[in-house]
Amino acid sequence: MASRVIPVEVFDLVIFGATGDLARRKILPGLYLRWLAGQILPEARVIGAARAELSDAEFRASVAAAIAEYVPPARQDAAALAGFLDRLSYVAIDATGDKGWAQLRAVVRPDVVQAFYFSVAPTLFGAIAGRLTAHGIAGPEARIVVEKPFGRDLASARALNAALAQHFAESQIYRIDHYLGKETVQNLMAVRFANILFEPLWNSQYVDHVQITVAETVGVEGRGVYYDKAGAMRDMVQNHIMQLLCLIAMEPPYHFDPDAVRDEKLKVIRALDPVRPEDIVRGQYLAGGGKGGYLEDADNRNSRTESYIALKLHISNWRWKGTPFYLRTGKRLRARESEIAITFREPPHSIFDDHSGWRENVLVIRLQPDEGMNLKVMIKEPGPGGMRLVQVPLDMSFAEALGEALDDVPDAYERLIMDVIRGNQTLFMRGDEVEAAWAWTDPVIGGWEARGEKPQPYEPGTSGPEDALMLMHRDNRRWREIRS
Ligand code: NAP
Repeated sequence: MASRVIPVEVFDLVIFGATGDLARRKILPGLYLRWLAGQILPEARVIGAARAELSDAEFRASVAAAIAEYVPPARQDAAALAGFLDRLSYVAIDATGDKGWAQLRAVVRPDVVQAFYFSVAPTLFGAIAGRLTAHGIAGPEARIVVEKPFGRDLASARALNAALAQHFAESQIYRIDHYLGKETVQNLMAVRFANILFEPLWNSQYVDHVQITVAETVGVEGRGVYYDKAGAMRDMVQNHIMQLLCLIAMEPPYHFDPDAVRDEKLKVIRALDPVRPEDIVRGQYLAGGGKGGYLEDADNRNSRTESYIALKLHISNWRWKGTPFYLRTGKRLRARESEIAITFREPPHSIFDDHSGWRENVLVIRLQPDEGMNLKVMIKEPGPGGMRLVQVPLDMSFAEALGEALDDVPDAYERLIMDVIRGNQTLFMRGDEVEAAWAWTDPVIGGWEARGEKPQPYEPGTSGPEDALMLMHRDNRRWREIRS
């Protein structure tokens, strides 16, 4: 089964921060791969912009180096690379000054799709948005793409939304959450809303609980000082995990349409109960395995920022009242693993004498490392000797089922940038969604700050602090194992 590639309209994409880490690792290699796949027409242009004084040739050379470093060898193609580099140019610009804007105006075409990617610090968003309109560069249909973090609390998110809204309509603003660009995350919507099988069971009557795990093996080394101002709650839960939670918990939208989907996600966030202090466990990794601990990485001996968090949440609506959602994410854990597990309830009555082998049905949606889904069901243990039950996985590994088609699956950034050009906002966060997520997050963080709580130390290479295990044991439940 080969995947279909439909070229997008001709565009001019300006990348502010084109010499930065994100542009070099994700955006530019992603665009090259879409060019290689034939999704970008030769008339399209990519314009790099940053303060550094670079010629077009120097910028192209730096992009070629980034592609050599970040694109897998099997997708390196000299002819395609030369063609891609021909589409690139560079403008030296200062987001907060006058330099470069007239030059940018001269190169951005008014009669093609215009997209402006703000791959810079959020403090520059307002300045760039203002100059794009003041200099008459962005037309009425232009799109802007903004990166995370979108604020660090409700007040700063509101200020960012207000700064962008002065110059662009909500329909022009694409707030990236790259988790929404992952194949499996979108598949979650297909599985829920294109099958009759799951939806009747998708409520508190049949779902015992939901677990969402985003475990990383890396620490915060290298970006510890930045991370120390955020922590796991701001860095992962408020955005990525919240988005996953919304897709699991939302009602079916009336149509797969940007605002219909985002309206339903917003309702989930608004229905979240405040989190009780006893339902929060925060941790900081210790030194180990030849590496420093969180406090050294953050260069802050007194830091109270969490590198791990586990939470138990309740959603107060008809569908979910009574089904807890357990979320956890952390750094320096046993394995790199992201998954959502939906655990169903026990059948109301067992007709079998030997019930000892019985286990709950679990639908596991794996986001990484190997994307796929797996439904654990009960069957009879094969062979003679009576009726004994055993749990087996019904594996829906996409790699097996879809074969080659999966090789061409674009990564999250590739897909999301193409969605920007297509003008499809379904997989981007709307301003009110982001604000609602902060409105829920702020009191949780404010609560532990007011109580003066310190995160608990945990050993690296484990599944986090002991108390996180207790969070579930207390409810007679267990976390799924983080497998190494
Ligand atoms: P970075 O490596 O520090 O790059 C920043 C870029 O902005 C550079 O190209 C820099 O070039 C440019 N810049 C800085 N000040 C400027 C100004 N006044 N005018 C014009 N350009 C300016 O940052 P990054 O890691 O790429 O991150 C960019 C954004 O993406 C941030 O908002 C970050 O939070 C977000 N993000 C990054 C990652 C990641 O993996 N890196 C992941 C998620 C989100 P000059 O100094 O030459 O101007």
